[in-house]
Amino acid sequence: MICSKCGDPAIVSQRYRGQRLCQSHFIEDFESRVRETMRKYDMVKDGERIAVAVSGGKDSTALLLCLHKILGGRDKELVAITVDEGIAGYRDDTITSARAIAANLGIKQEIVSFRDEYGYDLDDMVQGKEVAPCTFCGVFRKKSLNLMAKRMGATLVATGHNLDDEAQSIMMNYLKGDIERLMRFRPRKVQPGLVPRVKPLREILEKEIALYCMVNGVFTESRECPYASLSLRADVRDMMNDLESLFPGTKQSTLQGFEKIAEIKLGNWTKIDLASCRICGEPCVKEICKACELCKRLKG
Ligand code: SF4
Ligand code: ZN
Repeated sequence: MICSKCGDPAIVSQRYRGQRLCQSHFIEDFESRVRETMRKYDMVKDGERIAVAVSGGKDSTALLLCLHKILGGRDKELVAITVDEGIAGYRDDTITSARAIAANLGIKQEIVSFRDEYGYDLDDMVQGKEVAPCTFCGVFRKKSLNLMAKRMGATLVATGHNLDDEAQSIMMNYLKGDIERLMRFRPRKVQPGLVPRVKPLREILEKEIALYCMVNGVFTESRECPYASLSLRADVRDMMNDLESLFPGTKQSTLQGFEKIAEIKLGNWTKIDLASCRICGEPCVKEICKACELCKRLKG
């Protein structure tokens, strides 16, 4: 297998793009695609302080590394936020990885924990209850990131969501018929009190992100969260992986198809103004934010 650009031995075959790449062309191509995604959605402006959500897994590690490389020396500052949900036997190791990568790159990092913010670890929240751990986790993680980003004076939050995550989320919301939630995937929507979020890796396949970490010699914690298999996402992920191997490019076309629909429907959703939560003041759709609603359920 040889590189389509230079004839050196290739390390990756991108069937969906009809090319193979050697190590140096893979890295170059990876970074230029991330740059192109950021340009296309006008993600980062000059003078921005970008808080990268770094869990210590491969996606967020690759994101931090890649942004550090492509934004280095420009008028943009990177900081890192690590959320400790409190998942025994899993999160401690990823936090060690997250600390190592931020320290190696000389990036200021803050850790925000569910225990400090809400009084419980995720493990305590879901123990013995008929609830989906990912629902609690997702709601509290978003809130924690927003709170810490504001404390750090960040103007933007960047997360490591990749093409697999995006295609899965789109498909999950199609399956549930949840158009409102679907439209929230559009990058960058400015709302008071909510630090805008961007996903610079949203057009890159998960396996290429793992490869990017590997060729950059970065260790990442690859263990899966013990709660991951309990969610609908796990089934959708398997289905999308099967489809992608039968029909290369399926994940990409799922995202592109959604983008076309969003262009048409978007006008209706950007008009929704968020209110402030009556309890905590964070932006929310209803009177009380989802996190405060779940906190009440935990205490009641
Ligand atoms: Fe949280 Fe679910 Fe992800 Fe585990 S799999 S970290 S519980 S969202
Ligand atoms: Zn609230």
